[in-house]
Amino acid sequence: MLTTDPLAVPLARATNPRTGKALGKLGLETAEDLLRHYPRRYAEAATLTDMTRLAVGEHVTVVAEVVRTSLRTTAQGKGLLQSTITDGTSRLELTFFATHRRKLEWRESQLRTGRRGLFTGVVSLYRGTLQLMHPECRLFGAEDDVQDEEEALLDASRPIPIYPAFAGFESWKVAQAVRTVLDPLREVDVPDPVPDRLREAHALPTLLEALRFVHVPADEAEWQRGRDRLRYEEALVLQAELARRRERVAQEEAVARPRRAGGLLDAFDARLPFELTAGQRTVGEEIAAELAAPRPMQRLLQGEVGSGKTVVALRAMLQVVDAGGQAALLAPTEVLAAQHVRTLRALLGDLADGGFLGGAENATRVALLTGSLPAAARREALLDAASGRAGIVVGTHALLSEHVQIADLGLVVVDEQHRFGVEQRDALRAKAARTPHTLVMTATPIPRTVAMTVFGDLETSVLDQVPAGRAGITTHAVPADNPRWTDRTWQRVREEVDRGGRAYVVCPRIEADDAPGGAADDDEGADLLAEAVETVGGGAVPPRRPLRAVTEVAEQLRARADLAGVGVGVLHGRMAPDEKERAFAAFASGAAPVLVSTTVIEVGVDVPDATVMVVLDADRFGLSQLHQLRGRVGRGSRPGLCLLVSAAEPGTDAHTRLETLASTTDGFRLAALDLELRHEGDVLGAAQHGRGSSLRLLRVTRDADVIDLARSDARALVADDAELAAWPALRGAIEQQLAGEREEYLDRA
Ligand code: ADP
Ligand code: MG
Repeated sequence: MLTTDPLAVPLARATNPRTGKALGKLGLETAEDLLRHYPRRYAEAATLTDMTRLAVGEHVTVVAEVVRTSLRTTAQGKGLLQSTITDGTSRLELTFFATHRRKLEWRESQLRTGRRGLFTGVVSLYRGTLQLMHPECRLFGAEDDVQDEEEALLDASRPIPIYPAFAGFESWKVAQAVRTVLDPLREVDVPDPVPDRLREAHALPTLLEALRFVHVPADEAEWQRGRDRLRYEEALVLQAELARRRERVAQEEAVARPRRAGGLLDAFDARLPFELTAGQRTVGEEIAAELAAPRPMQRLLQGEVGSGKTVVALRAMLQVVDAGGQAALLAPTEVLAAQHVRTLRALLGDLADGGFLGGAENATRVALLTGSLPAAARREALLDAASGRAGIVVGTHALLSEHVQIADLGLVVVDEQHRFGVEQRDALRAKAARTPHTLVMTATPIPRTVAMTVFGDLETSVLDQVPAGRAGITTHAVPADNPRWTDRTWQRVREEVDRGGRAYVVCPRIEADDAPGGAADDDEGADLLAEAVETVGGGAVPPRRPLRAVTEVAEQLRARADLAGVGVGVLHGRMAPDEKERAFAAFASGAAPVLVSTTVIEVGVDVPDATVMVVLDADRFGLSQLHQLRGRVGRGSRPGLCLLVSAAEPGTDAHTRLETLASTTDGFRLAALDLELRHEGDVLGAAQHGRGSSLRLLRVTRDADVIDLARSDARALVADDAELAAWPALRGAIEQQLAGEREEYLDRA
């Protein structure tokens, strides 16, 4: 039997070709697309006005009967239609003009004597008579108007759905098209992604009911009920996908890597120059236990900036190396990968000198694999990875290339999860004979709801304290156009440098003539930069003056008398990798203690002597990003100073953001604030333009409860039925709503 899915019918057929074409411009192709195009808000229903109490200037809707209608041509040759209506007691005139009387003939036949209807308009007074000019008329019982009086009155009492309008196609036309599509549907036509048992448990309406509620609500309570149910559905579909993915990996076998006494990890712990924080210990035990199990660990480690995630990750890696495996550490940029290698080697000391004279017994190696290594170094690193000689392989995306072989990959650590998504994790996992354990680390704290939405397939550990003994950091917002403050800023830099400190100076652009945030940086920095500009750019006032640029600022600083004799280096994504390396090394060593850079230094860079962070045009960056930047200083025993230079006027959002940052160092609080200030789409990385996102009603800022509920429901469903075979509609919804965009937003997180 041939059946057609009424939801899949093209709109040109479901409505009419002209409407179909107009809706197509909104990106709506099928009946289902239109039904999922929810009203943006609702206007209050028309309340019927008693005709005996009409007041001039009032917007009214009355029920009345036509007493008389006349159409004529005025002295100026125009058409004029006048109609008198009554409720039996009072009378009211309706008046219509047109360029020609012919244009009013249909109106004349509509307003036949004796017909009843609803008339809506603004009351005016003309020569002593109350009238409505060009009122909206809904006649009862007409073929192409509403069916009968009862239904018409009901319609008039409903909240009016307001759809996002667009040129030439008004909201009421969308509403009309929705009715055409929605009215004939029956329950069987609309498969419900929410399984019966959940719908019953939460007393939710069916999908069809919910669609009727949001598109044709009887009252406010109804559209709210519909909206709540659709919101839950969005959360459920997303969480079901995450739960399924988590379950799939959990079903895979991993090699158990239990902790071995007397190995590298013990040796490392014994020589650690500091005590682990309580958090580092607890999280460390969690991870150690999971690595010891034959199921893949899937864990997210998020923590406050400077909370010591690297040490936690390194200890996990050493446990795996002790158990005979290897660990890969993925970093988002080459600068960061190189720095990780330096940090790890420094922390490990001779424990990382495997195969070298003087290396400790059972020492391993830390190999660096990036896209731009010289051929010989690359060959050696490849060999170290493939032979298993390097217990730890650090790299960027280059690690994902097919040429890279890792003998026995037991653990993948993804650091500073900025741009490694599900796909990259999968690609790296595919290098292992058996599924490796995975540890994902975020750069900054993220709100719980975001963690649940974006990393919902991972278990979460949190490090919320920074090690004791940190001197801390002071943050000030500095007005850009005040020469005294400017001088003071650079004097402070000078003072810190004189005391052996280092200063970062961050700018939003590389060259003075670059477009802000444009293709300024290579792919390492550009995304972050573009993101920064985007984050705050939405609707922002264009800057009064060009944004500060790295090369220009470096010149200016070199010319300043108060910085005479101070080495000023530059670092940005357009430099060659070895140039970057050199610039960074000169900074770390103190040869060039002032480093002017883009946000390439945003994540993870760790120079303990750095004490000052100056951010120019600070209002161009997001809160979390500034918090992350600020986390680069004050890591040693000397207090850090962060100066946020900006031309933002007091009272503006941008200024408020900077003041907020100056007032707290609690990253979790800032993350929550940031989320409120940013567009949802930026957070999820979803396409911004209406149709792109499957999250239409759900807001991670507001709907934590719904997300929580959906997550536990989804996990229960998947526990019963890993592939959701019993719930084809839910599966269908996952495939349909998340196809394409899923990759996009889970990836970008
Ligand atoms: P983040 O969590 O931001 O990545 P890092 O791992 O870079 O932080 O650690 C920041 C600094 O703190 C590093 O210099 C690291 O050696 C140091 N550190 C880590 N753990 C401790 C600790 N328990 N006590 C003192 N210093 C620590
Ligand atoms: Mg780090």
